[in-house]
Amino acid sequence: MKRNAITIIGAGLVGALLATLLAQRGFAVDVFERRPDPRKAGFIGGRSINLALAERGWHGLRVAGLQERIGAIAVMMRGRMVHHLDGHTELLRYGRDDSEVIWSVNRGTLNMALLDAAEAAGATVHFGSPLHAVDWEKSTLQIVDGGSFTSHPFTTLIGADGAGSALRATMTSMIDLGEHFAPLDHGYKELEIPSHGGAFAMEPNALHIWPRGNYMCIALPNAEGSFTVTLFLPNQGNPSFATVVTADDAQTLFARDFADALALIPDLRSDFANNPTGMLGTLYLDRWHLDSRALLIGDAAHAIVPFHGQGMNCGFEDAVELAEVMERDDDIAAVFAEFERRRKPNADAIAAMALENYVEMRDSVADAHFLLMRTLERTLAARHPGRFVPRYWMVTFSRLPYSVAYERGEIQTKILRELTQGKQSIEQIDLQHADKLIQQQLAPLA
Ligand code: FAD
Repeated sequence: MKRNAITIIGAGLVGALLATLLAQRGFAVDVFERRPDPRKAGFIGGRSINLALAERGWHGLRVAGLQERIGAIAVMMRGRMVHHLDGHTELLRYGRDDSEVIWSVNRGTLNMALLDAAEAAGATVHFGSPLHAVDWEKSTLQIVDGGSFTSHPFTTLIGADGAGSALRATMTSMIDLGEHFAPLDHGYKELEIPSHGGAFAMEPNALHIWPRGNYMCIALPNAEGSFTVTLFLPNQGNPSFATVVTADDAQTLFARDFADALALIPDLRSDFANNPTGMLGTLYLDRWHLDSRALLIGDAAHAIVPFHGQGMNCGFEDAVELAEVMERDDDIAAVFAEFERRRKPNADAIAAMALENYVEMRDSVADAHFLLMRTLERTLAARHPGRFVPRYWMVTFSRLPYSVAYERGEIQTKILRELTQGKQSIEQIDLQHADKLIQQQLAPLA
């Protein structure tokens, strides 16, 4: 059955997945994408060359039939490889074994696979076609076409055009979306550890972290043997992007704080000078849709900071849930309202957890009390399977709603704090008391 016509703005990660899922379900899907076709023109990235893919993201890819194709290019990351200031390293595993890991994937390769899938499912993607404006009275889009504009009729619009969404901007002329952007006072810069003739210069199966208190570096592996390094620094203070300005400044900072990484980044000076400094922040909206005419999804609705590696994973979960509700119900206004009701608490929860995770990554992973809390967390998880479940596990390895992970995580952190207060080792902790607290405060997970 041919269902309604759907017009999607943006063929990035979320737009291309949604186009695939809707076309597979019989919708007539047109997608307008600002950039040229990356399969012909090369991928114009802009940010984060690789991404951490977790269970929610894999689920979207499985539904789209892409698990095998992406599985072949994804690099397993078993845990955080912490690089201490004195040069020694330690692996903090994410899960119990290799069934509980995350994966590093190349953004461009992933996007191109999703575009292939969207077209194979029957969607039409119009490349080099940025949305300029929407005439809501006449239900037409204005698309930039060379030096002029072309007009396209639409029935239903879905904005997957990212954090700076042009569709969102045009919706605000019709409805107050309650938009609020909270900038993070830290930015980022990407650098590269090249491969050594196809070999990795460090342990490939880990997400490397150099935590340094108020700032940090991370590195994710790429399939061909390199690592993409991201330096996160405050915008102000010392060190910050206000004090580390030139290639010389970067060289000095790395020699002092990231010496083992510096030895592996031959082009540090030119990478630092030439690569842009990225800005980060959280986008909050009170409303995501305009009756049956338009809906926002992915970063266009809820851009978050990248410290839980969940922005794309969350956007993929959006796409799967939206396609499921659209398949069940033809009343688009009701579907959009239902989607917003279901997803917004989850988007708010992962936004909060992503902000909290920045402190954990850059600071706490090097802290003895934090490590004791993690050891106790593992002990309690083993004593109470299905009841005391680490928050990271719920976010990363399950598809439990983010809001459930957040709420239970708050309770669990309180229990861990209470039990580890003033303690130096796991042997000093009263596990019978821990059992009582858990029985009282945490119901078994459904
Ligand atoms: P985008 O990827 O921004 O795609 C939007 C698309 O819309 C683009 O193709 C763009 O060209 C197009 N577009 C824009 N304007 C228009 C227009 N006017 N007309 C037509 N098309 C338009 N997430 C993870 O899950 N794991 C990670 O490890 C991770 N790491 C990250 C690291 C960094 C440094 C950053 C910044 C983000 C990271 N994220 C990560 C988040 C992830 O990048 C985003 O959540 C994800 O890209 C959102 O996908 P999207 O399709 O909604 O938006």
